[in-house]
Amino acid sequence: MRYFIGNWKMFGVPKSINILKKINSFYSKDIKRSNYRIIITPPYTLIGNYSNYFKKKKILIGSQNCYHKDLFSSNTGAISPFMLKKSGATYTLIGHSDNRGEGDTDTLLKDKVKFSLRNNLKIVFCIGESKKQKKNKQTQTVLKKQLFKVLEKKFNSNNIIVAYEPIWSIGTGELPTTEELNKTIKFIKKILKGIFRKKIPPVLYGGSVDGNSVKLYRDIKEIDGFLIGGASKSSKKFIDIIRNYYR
Ligand code: PEP
Repeated sequence: MRYFIGNWKMFGVPKSINILKKINSFYSKDIKRSNYRIIITPPYTLIGNYSNYFKKKKILIGSQNCYHKDLFSSNTGAISPFMLKKSGATYTLIGHSDNRGEGDTDTLLKDKVKFSLRNNLKIVFCIGESKKQKKNKQTQTVLKKQLFKVLEKKFNSNNIIVAYEPIWSIGTGELPTTEELNKTIKFIKKILKGIFRKKIPPVLYGGSVDGNSVKLYRDIKEIDGFLIGGASKSSKKFIDIIRNYYR
């Protein structure tokens, strides 16, 4: 199974659902659709509305983040995994570098993972090194720490996806070489094997993926899909990625 996940970030109003309708219409007719799954994470404001519309349709709706407590609480502005699940979200991103940059520590991320899984909200756990860490050849050390600090054997790996997103590649057009990426994804899978033993979560790549860059990576068998930011806000660009992936 391959995954194409669109992260809308701070984008979208109710009528942006038209973008998803076009993606869904392509997906419903695609003869290769049993090979892959589409998940879109709009902002919180649209999750209930979009999930309701796509309830019986093919594409899944997720969240970009969640609060680190599970039910209701007195934290102003917070949205819990329980509330997201009840609003129709199937997945939530956790640990996106935007949120790590705004103070999400490993301890906090672990609570987000724990409470999401407890509420049957599947997770897409994002990891990735900074440009400086890459330059200092710390990529593997950083990724290993990010994985070990948060993921645990007791978590059900069927409900987890890992997304490798080098921070220096997000929104920049800068891409890892195929050799670099192949090596890093294999390394991540080795670490995941150490944690989960038999059934390891799928590992995606994210960072400046579009209809062109996906061609570089489509032959890397170890990559189980893509997390797509900028290009997921256009139905044409998003569909191009899938078309070019399958040729
Ligand atoms: C992201 O924000 O998760 C992302 C991958 O963005 P982009 O595709 O725009 O680099």
